[in-house]
Amino acid sequence: MKLFGGIEAGGTKFICIVSSGPDKIMAETRFPTTTPEKTLQQVVNFFQEQSVKQEEPISAIGIGCFGPVDLDPASPTFGFITLTPKPGWSNTDMVGTIRKAMDLPVVIDTDVNAAAVGEWTWGAGKDLNDFIYLTIGTGIGGGGVINGKTLHGLVHPEMGHMRIPHDWQVDPFIGTCPYHGDCFEGLAAGPTIKARWGQAGETLPVDHPAWNLEAKYIALAVQNLVCILSPKRVILGGGVMQQSNLLPLIRKNVSDYLNNYVQSPAILNDIDHYIVAPELGNQAGVMGAIALAQRLVGYY
Ligand code: ADP
Ligand code: ZN
Repeated sequence: MKLFGGIEAGGTKFICIVSSGPDKIMAETRFPTTTPEKTLQQVVNFFQEQSVKQEEPISAIGIGCFGPVDLDPASPTFGFITLTPKPGWSNTDMVGTIRKAMDLPVVIDTDVNAAAVGEWTWGAGKDLNDFIYLTIGTGIGGGGVINGKTLHGLVHPEMGHMRIPHDWQVDPFIGTCPYHGDCFEGLAAGPTIKARWGQAGETLPVDHPAWNLEAKYIALAVQNLVCILSPKRVILGGGVMQQSNLLPLIRKNVSDYLNNYVQSPAILNDIDHYIVAPELGNQAGVMGAIALAQRLVGYY
């Protein structure tokens, strides 16, 4: 049984594990994200300690990282967090720092792509080579697997910043995105719900009008993704999706918006299995980092 290291590098906290799969977590630690120097030192300390403690060596380390991240292997800043609004973190060499300290193969992807790879390996994306993973939390992020590879391009997808129709009569709220105001994230991320209604999502009753509006915005974004990328499944995660009445509302709206245009039985007859929750729950990110490490060394 080979062991791997996984890092979920978030803007507020880091989670590191040593594992060989979802039911085999040998060690775990979590700590708040402070300065890059201190935080990455904590990461390295954990894996160095674990390399001594565990009976098996760690074969590779995967990182699911908050962005923007340079994912182009040919770029001189490959594996760096590039220009980020998070103070102190711009131009942080994530891959190089950990590779140098651990002398191990290290792989990086966006936090959402990592979560998608977790679901691909052990969850709701199993056996699918084309699916999308959207997380609706503090921000909105999207990634996924298309043609059997995680979605990259010029940089990486920024699905949270797509434009969706905004009816100012129905919803006069200006949006919270510092770059675009009323992009998808600006209209529908967790903090937006609080800013619009004066109360965090977790405290709003199920019959509150917030949920119909939220389901509408998420469904509009999902319709765009279905039409652009033709995914075989759409996985919706993140804190806001814990509102359990959202998923059925989103499915109904997507179905209405598509209006029978996309002729696939997966959508027409079985939308409950087409738009789904992540099976790994809040473990998707860190398990995805493990799966990335496994795939890097040809274990999958
Ligand atoms: P992050 O995106 O920082 O990783 P989460 O995915 O947990 O964190 O998302 C946090 C957001 O989810 C917060 O804005 C919070 O208000 C919202 N949230 C958490 N639980 C619920 C809930 N039950 N219903 C609606 N919103 C929720
Ligand atoms: Zn935006």
